[in-house]
Amino acid sequence: MTLTPILPDQDAIELAANCLHDGGLVAFPTETVYGLGADATNDRAVARIFEAKGRPQFNPLISHVSGLEMAMELGQFGALAKELADAFWPGPLTLVVKRSHACPVSLLASAGLETIALRMPNHVVAQGLINRVQRPLAAPSANPSGGVSPTTAAHVAEGLGDRLDMILDGGPCEVGLESTVVSVSDGEDVRLLRPGTITRSELEAVCGAVVSADGHAIEAPGMLASHYAPNSAVRLNAKSASPNEALLAFGPDIVPHTGPSENLSPAGDLLEAAANLFTMLRRLDARQPKGIAVMPIPQAGIGEAINDRLTRAAAPRS
Ligand code: AMP
Ligand code: MG
Repeated sequence: MTLTPILPDQDAIELAANCLHDGGLVAFPTETVYGLGADATNDRAVARIFEAKGRPQFNPLISHVSGLEMAMELGQFGALAKELADAFWPGPLTLVVKRSHACPVSLLASAGLETIALRMPNHVVAQGLINRVQRPLAAPSANPSGGVSPTTAAHVAEGLGDRLDMILDGGPCEVGLESTVVSVSDGEDVRLLRPGTITRSELEAVCGAVVSADGHAIEAPGMLASHYAPNSAVRLNAKSASPNEALLAFGPDIVPHTGPSENLSPAGDLLEAAANLFTMLRRLDARQPKGIAVMPIPQAGIGEAINDRLTRAAAPRS
């Protein structure tokens, strides 16, 4: 059954906010394109985004915020980041900064990176929703993987209508093109990661030279075979684990093990496994085992994205 988009009056915003609080998926309009929104601090809700889009990889998502105050709780804002936010927010500029130490945003939304992408959308419905939820909303474009970004609620319903909980219809998007993404995570350079509505010269008028990201492909995961690898060596499809290895298990039938272990999902639920993946990898890695043995994960649905990430973690280090 496909969803009917609803007009975003106060009652609808209230409903949508409650739905997001409960881990639901709500598509909402921004000035760029329609976003597929979930509570960015809820691992499982973020996993549902990837499941709904059917993307075979975990790419990092933009967390949408109500303003600089919320942004500064999530990321480390130096002078340069503040200057850019002052100049372009609310608006179609996404800032990639280091995650703050107590950042509550799901590691899955950051695809395991130390950085976080933040944006304050310039749209009354998006703003109303974030303000009502009082949490950052992770929201990639609301289309199935590989599809065209939606600029009307009807596009969203057509592509994802059977996989969402609600669609807020705010009419056609004004800009219709994705946000410009820049990284200021080193506090010195402004690196253009994705060209978008805000042009290089508009950025340069505010902050001086903008560096192209070509030499910094490591920042966009998926581009590098071995990316965010844990310090420990990762061994896939493990049928057993040695005592000095850590075990990353999956499902009810786990191999006997005396060392550190975590289970991605004792019930064998792939969505739960995706939600736990980065947190558990990090926790095991922090124990400094000789290696991390990972039990087989089924290559079905979101399992494909889990295996993609694990394969990268296990790839030979350069
Ligand atoms: P979309 O969700 O379609 O708007 O795309 C999000 C864009 O932001 C992609 O190009 C991501 O690679 C980029 N992005 C999000 N988070 C990060 C991050 N932490 N580091 C680098 N790029 C990011
Ligand atoms: Mg997209």
